[in-house]
Formats: sequence, C-alpha cells, structure tokens
Amino acid sequence: MKLKKKQIAFLIFLIVGTVYVAMHQEHTPSATTRKFSERIFSTVMNVTYTGTEDLHDTIMTCLKGVDASLSMFNPKSTISRINRGETDTLDAHLTEILPMAHSISDATGGAFDITVAPLVNAWGFGFKSGQLPTDVQVDSLRALVDYKSISIEEGLIRKQNPGCVIDLSAIAKGYGSDQVANLLMERGVKDFMVEIGGEIVTRGNNPKGEAWHIGINRPVEDSTGMNNEIQEVIEVHNRAMATSGNYRNYYTTEDGRKVSHTIDPSTGRPVRHSLLSSTVLAPTCAMADAFATSFMVMGIEKAMDIVNAHPELQVYFIYTDSTGNYRTWQNIKTEEQAQTLQ
Ligand code: ADP
Ligand code: MG
Repeated sequence: MKLKKKQIAFLIFLIVGTVYVAMHQEHTPSATTRKFSERIFSTVMNVTYTGTEDLHDTIMTCLKGVDASLSMFNPKSTISRINRGETDTLDAHLTEILPMAHSISDATGGAFDITVAPLVNAWGFGFKSGQLPTDVQVDSLRALVDYKSISIEEGLIRKQNPGCVIDLSAIAKGYGSDQVANLLMERGVKDFMVEIGGEIVTRGNNPKGEAWHIGINRPVEDSTGMNNEIQEVIEVHNRAMATSGNYRNYYTTEDGRKVSHTIDPSTGRPVRHSLLSSTVLAPTCAMADAFATSFMVMGIEKAMDIVNAHPELQVYFIYTDSTGNYRTWQNIKTEEQAQTLQ
C-alpha cells in the first residue's frame, strides 16, 4: 500500500514535471538553424541563421521596402517614378545609396556609373532588345550618361539632363544583403549568411560552428547559368563578398560576337577583357557589389591599381593569359590581418 502511494506520487511528479518543461519550452524556444529561399529583385535570396525567432516575414517586409525604392523592374518603385519624371522626392533608401554610388564612381574614375541605363537598354539588356545600336546611336546615348549630372538638394534629386535614367542593378543586390544583415544583427542574431544573387554577407559561424566558406565559381562560359564548377573556396568571416562575371549574363550575335551586360561608360560599349570573374570582399556588400562590376569594366591592370590604393578591399580575380589559360590574382587576407584593417 505504502509502495502504491509512492508510485502515485512519482507519477504525479512526472506528469507535472513534463507539463512544466513543455510549457517552459514554449516560452523560451531554443536557438535553431533556420533557412529559407525567396525570389526577390528578379533573382534568388538565400538566408541561413541561428536564432530563436522566425524572422522570415520581417526580412521579406524589409526587402519589399528596398524593392519599392530601388527596383527598376518594379514600375511603382521610387526610382522608376523618378526615371519617368513623376517625382523628384527621395526616400530613405535612395538617400543612403545614391551618395554611396557617387563615391564609388569617383573611386573608379567613372567606370561605375548608375546613369548607364540608356546604353544597357540599347545593347539589349534591361528592357529592350533586338538590333545592336549603330556608332551614331551609341554616341548620342553617351551624352545622357554621366553620374556627375545628378545631385541631391534638400532631399530632392536634381538631374541636369532630363533624359538621364538611373540603374541601380549593380549595387542594389549588395545593398539589399546589407539591409537584411543589419536587421538580423538588430534582432541579436550572431551567426548568419545572407545571399542575394551571389552577393553575400556573413557573421559569426555556420551551423557546424565553423567559419563560413564560400565557393567561387570557375568562369565557364555558360549563358544558361547552370554550370556551377567551383574554382576556389574562401573563408568569408564577418565580411561581405560579391562576384561579377561576364561568363554568364551575355548573348552571342548572329556573327558570333559576344555581348556582355557590363558597359564601359567611357566608350558606351560592352566590355570584354581578359578578366573573366571579379570577386570582391569589402566592409559592406553594396561596396563589394559595385566594385566587382567596376573591375569588370576597367580590366585587371587598372583594377589592381585601385585594389592597391584601397586596403579595405580584397579581391580574387580569374583571368586568361595570352595562351588562353586561366590565371588568378588575389590579395585575400587572413582573418587576423583583415581585423587589423577595420
Ligand atoms: P554582375 O554580377 O555581373 O556584377 P550586376 O547585376 O551586379 O551583375 O551588374 C550588372 C548590371 O549593372 C547590368 O545589367 C547593368 O544594368 C548595370 N551596369 C552595366 N554596366 C554598368 C556600369 N558601368 N556601372 C554601373 N552599372 C552598370
Ligand atoms: Mg555587381
């Protein structure tokens, strides 16, 4: 009889204990690895983070805000309305990104230029496609391209040339990754990787507890984007990384010419150098994104000069030598070396 009472007491203890643990868990969920992919900015975003909160909806709201400001593909976005001349009032994202774009244009001698859109369209990227432009057409469109012709005055955009069109495609994905990274950090998330169309920000460790390692694709010419051979894996610790390459987004004309989507603003023409792929590590992903595209515009020699003058930039370049073999040039620093630069 005595034994039975003890058994009942033990049973009650077990039930109460189990209920307590279950309730307690519901209130303080443990941190787990969370992952998701979504389509945004006409590309794919991947987010992996370790946290207690499900931040999917918060992240998507944040990115829809970026899209509603910066996307040329969204006809209702602020930039589309500015480009159509419907408004000159800047919003918070444009107020932040336009001066960043301007300073990268200065730092790259104009190789990076967000007013390049009329030429991008003329060469068949962006919205219009069809016939290649003639020399006369290229020269007349070049007159519309000059990042110095736009400025900000008291929250309003001023265009010296009313025909000027702003294209933030080469910086907006990186900027979007920065915005998601900032949101995650504000929410106390310490370990994460955000990637929008190859433009990446990492913090802390991966789900295995190790530093994040990111593969750089071998620049195999493939306009379908299906080839994913890895050339090199590099450690991206608490940094942002972006890659620009002309081996994917290009088309071949009937006479066999390859037309890339990177335009040299100084010639008005698509560029094809020996530089096949440019990966940039930088303090922000917007910077990494914009510099990666700029280096494709200027080619490897000029790019090396800029890199040597900017200790905050690290790069991994893949280029072809005179015999057509792949070569690499890089100055990626170890984590400790990079930290002393911050
Ligand atoms: P990538 O990954 O190759 O850098 P991005 O999408 O980042 O590709 O940048 C390429 C896009 O940037 C082009 O499709 C075009 O809209 C725009 N662009 C092309 N040339 C320039 C340039 N010289 N400066 C700024 N943007 C450019
Ligand atoms: Mg880019």
